[in-house]
Amino acid sequence: MSRLAAEHGAINLAQGFPNFPAPELLKEAACKAIRDDFNQYAITWGARRLREAVARKYDAWYGMTLDPDGEITITCGATEAMVATLMAIVNPGDEVIVFEPFYENYGPDTILCEAKPVFVPLAPGAPLDLDRLAAAFSARTRAIIVNTPSNPSGRVLTRAELEGIALLCQRHDAWAVTDEIYEHIRLSGEHIPIATLPGMRERTITISGASKTFSITGWRIGTVVAPAGITEAIRKVHDFLTVGAPAPLQEGLAVAMDALGQEYYAKMAADYRRRCDLLLPAITAAGFTALAPQGAYYILADFSALSDQDDTTFAHWLARERGVATVPGSSFFSRPELGRHLVRFVFCKTDELLQEAAARLLGGGRGGAKELQR
Ligand code: PLP
Repeated sequence: MSRLAAEHGAINLAQGFPNFPAPELLKEAACKAIRDDFNQYAITWGARRLREAVARKYDAWYGMTLDPDGEITITCGATEAMVATLMAIVNPGDEVIVFEPFYENYGPDTILCEAKPVFVPLAPGAPLDLDRLAAAFSARTRAIIVNTPSNPSGRVLTRAELEGIALLCQRHDAWAVTDEIYEHIRLSGEHIPIATLPGMRERTITISGASKTFSITGWRIGTVVAPAGITEAIRKVHDFLTVGAPAPLQEGLAVAMDALGQEYYAKMAADYRRRCDLLLPAITAAGFTALAPQGAYYILADFSALSDQDDTTFAHWLARERGVATVPGSSFFSRPELGRHLVRFVFCKTDELLQEAAARLLGGGRGGAKELQR
């Protein structure tokens, strides 16, 4: 869809990357690290300074006391963190429970481990059906992937829902593998790492990273917090997959994590609320049906009232004729028909670009998109 957006001069609200700058302090710290000759491999499991900053973060935000030497690993993004984790814990033939709609990588990640993904619906506006989830667990269930706040649904799991998941993990001796990459992009509700629930620390692998929090998707820095024994296995896979994340960028991130205080995170969340408020009313006024996301920076919108076309045909039409690129909903479901009436918009863009997208959705002109996208 990004290619199609470029071809048609459409505003790219498809791929989830910000078009605004990263914090100045962070960029300066990375430049300084390069100037100071942090040019060689960092230690495989991550630069000490960054692991220490990550430990301080988990302590300050969630009251988790971590050993930076034994329980924290730095990877090339949450993407590598997820694949390294699943390869470390899942054997061929095992089952991994995945909520749907899901972030596209989880299916292939599971298949790379020769495991079987087992899908359980988690609709944006409805509570998690814990009975249905319980029925999805079997003797072969090795893990459940818990993505909150969620891409693409914007769903934030409540404490009660997380407690339900935790109980099932304990009952079936399964791992909770979380993807908390949007932990700081909260529009409403509370972010609760499932690792902080009673009895879960020892069976949770908590994945997050810097891509979204600091608007640096291209830096490729992710984090894995896990009990020491399984950390060893994850580090082995990580070593053979990528050796390590970029050394100077790890140093820069460590400096920024320590320097940026609560006000940075509060402002970032407020900025995302404002961006959502710019786009969501235009989406609904244009005839889509969409719920306000609780977290992350996506809006999953139903276009049934606008068109009978399938999602791919509709997304192509929208990019070509209205100049707004989205992702066809079927990308987020195990069976394409489940997403046939949906497209996903992102709002991790500047106000100007979102205003232009809103005008286009409401039938206005198409001027200036190239310029605004930079
Ligand atoms: N997890 C989710 C749920 C995402 O939406 C994304 C990116 O869109 C990622 C992981 C990728 O994170 P990273 O850039 O750290 O690999």
